[in-house]
Amino acid sequence: MAFSLTWLPDVLVNAGLKVAKSPGWETRGHGDMGNILGVLCHHTATPGKNSGNMPTLNTLITGRPDLPGPLSQLGLGRDGTYYIVAAGKCYHAGAGLWRGVTSGNSNFIGIEAENTGGRDDSPWPPVQMDAYHRGVAAILSHIGKSADFCAGHKEYALPAGRKSDPDFDMNVFRAAVTDILNGAAPAPVLIPVVAPATPTQPARATLRRGLPNDPALVKIVQTKLGLTADGDFGPGTEAAVRAFQSQHGAVPDGIIGPKTWLMIDP
Ligand SMILES: [Zn+2]
Repeated sequence: MAFSLTWLPDVLVNAGLKVAKSPGWETRGHGDMGNILGVLCHHTATPGKNSGNMPTLNTLITGRPDLPGPLSQLGLGRDGTYYIVAAGKCYHAGAGLWRGVTSGNSNFIGIEAENTGGRDDSPWPPVQMDAYHRGVAAILSHIGKSADFCAGHKEYALPAGRKSDPDFDMNVFRAAVTDILNGAAPAPVLIPVVAPATPTQPARATLRRGLPNDPALVKIVQTKLGLTADGDFGPGTEAAVRAFQSQHGAVPDGIIGPKTWLMIDP
């Protein structure tokens, strides 16, 4: 049976964010959550700034030798994509205290953002930090809490100093989240759902993994990328789209919007 956080993907998509679901996420967890009271922010500290968009994803799902997965409900890739890992309880918080909450694993949703935590990976990519703010705001809005109920792991963890993540100023972070909650932040840049017609091509729908995409359009993309044209926008197709975008100097978000359509099939 699915655990209770099945609302997470919709809440993030409705905030204009990119979402990728890890197969099996609905039933993944160390039992179910208790009351959801807030969000705990982390960074992965996985070495290798250029090791990929979310190289820690498999560890978040399966765990480490000393700690079984899942390790957080959400992973946040360098391109601002939220990876949905689990709808149940995850081992991310440990002992701590924030706003009277001492059982972080039961009461806080954990977000592990991909960042080495080192000087080599600072400042964070703006698209990732913007998604961090917007995702936390969307979750807090859904549960009816203010930005006070988003804490950094370093603020929550006890004894004090046990954790140093995330490596940014949480007061600045909460101020940005508050602006979004108050409607004072600029609207997110959304990718149009239809790429307009060009002199050589008709209007074409934006394609992304997880949408009910038109298989005929997906086959065009797959053929252009040298893939098997099965019409299914799966993880392999998404990875090939990201690689194509990187090679052509575009944001590697894995989404075939107006700009990527022009590059891939002008
Ligand atoms: Zn942490």
